[in-house]
Amino acid sequence: MRNSRFTSVLLAGATTVAALAVGVAPAVAAPSDPVAAAASPRDQDVEVFAEDGAISRARVPAASPFVAEPSMGVAAAGDGAVTKIVNNGSTDSKLDVVMIGDGYTASEQDKFRKDAAARWKDISAVQPYATYRKLFNVWAVSAVSAQSGVSGDPQQSTVRKTALGSRFWCNSIERLLCVDIKAVDTYAAKAPQADLVIVVANTAKYGGAGYGSTQSPLGYEGIATVAGGNGASGQIAVHETGHSLGKLADEYVAEGQEPYRGAEPAQANITTLSADRMRQDKAKWYRWLGKSSPDGGAVGAYQGAGNYPSGLNRPTDNSVMRSLGREFNLPGREAMIAGFYRRASTLSSATPVTTRLTATDHLTVDLPVSGTKLRWYLDGKEVTALRDRRTIAVSDLGPTGPKPAAHELKAVANDPTSAVIDPALTPALTRSLVWSVTR
Ligand SMILES: [Zn+2]
Repeated sequence: MRNSRFTSVLLAGATTVAALAVGVAPAVAAPSDPVAAAASPRDQDVEVFAEDGAISRARVPAASPFVAEPSMGVAAAGDGAVTKIVNNGSTDSKLDVVMIGDGYTASEQDKFRKDAAARWKDISAVQPYATYRKLFNVWAVSAVSAQSGVSGDPQQSTVRKTALGSRFWCNSIERLLCVDIKAVDTYAAKAPQADLVIVVANTAKYGGAGYGSTQSPLGYEGIATVAGGNGASGQIAVHETGHSLGKLADEYVAEGQEPYRGAEPAQANITTLSADRMRQDKAKWYRWLGKSSPDGGAVGAYQGAGNYPSGLNRPTDNSVMRSLGREFNLPGREAMIAGFYRRASTLSSATPVTTRLTATDHLTVDLPVSGTKLRWYLDGKEVTALRDRRTIAVSDLGPTGPKPAAHELKAVANDPTSAVIDPALTPALTRSLVWSVTR
């Protein structure tokens, strides 16, 4: 392996030398040239959100011409500092949201953390976040900018060199707030784990963007940009997490699209099938058909979805996957909860499962979601007296044998929510932890 890598490095080097020798201009453009940046092969498909809730799409450069040059390796005080602004437990049992500030100077980092906390409050007030908010940790990563504010605010001509290069008027659309993807990754890498990245820009002007797939090597699935001082823009992150966490498709129609003629798509909230056909085939959201949905109306098959005007149907008339500021519909809510449980657990404990418990020990488990049912089992047999008790003493487990012996103690938690009814998804609603006990 070492040899072949060495060979390819040599070849790459030779190619570069050859290109320079024949006078071919290097493809790398100066970072301050927006036109060259627009020609980058790493252009991104983003979503644009109007203040009235309408959503559309645009293609934008991955780079920003307004990223501040690093000051010769001398980091500003506090740059890259990581603070936990919402702490619900260890990262392995939680979903980790990473919020990165842009356009905040060294003396404005407290303001950044306040803005980030406020935007998280807006996001987590929406269902199913409100019920499941304790499954999340929120980290604030400080990116110190030399200048306060972001480009394009208040005027299109306003230029501010900032850590992430945030700019309004991206693709000539005033409310489209773009960032430099590479700069975002540099800061996101500083948090212990990123399941979701939200860039908080130092502005009160309405705007934002949804980057669906940035193919970040860090493994998170999308970036939402929001205006730190604008309550409505937090909803942009809610829609984007519909894609990243819920694996949901858009339910809006993009301008100028032909009817859909493709195969049945994979996403849970769009289908080529009619309501009758879903019922017959027991397909897609047939279990929810006719039920009253939190976003209004009954679940059915509404024409136009996945950006197509026809050929694809959506579950309800107007959910958050169609318009900003709305609720998820029933199939969407189910997919979101399943997505939460893919990365977070309904049961955790500060006592590692590798701990060997003895007769005098106590054990506490955390059930982050209200309504979760808990059962305790000793060697496979339920200790019914301990049902739903979060803290137990090993001595509560009943009489011991004549000699101390090793036993298996198991806690099983189940979230009995009626919001998840697909049998393929319900196993994730149950989690267990096992300790070994000597008593
Ligand atoms: Zn979308």
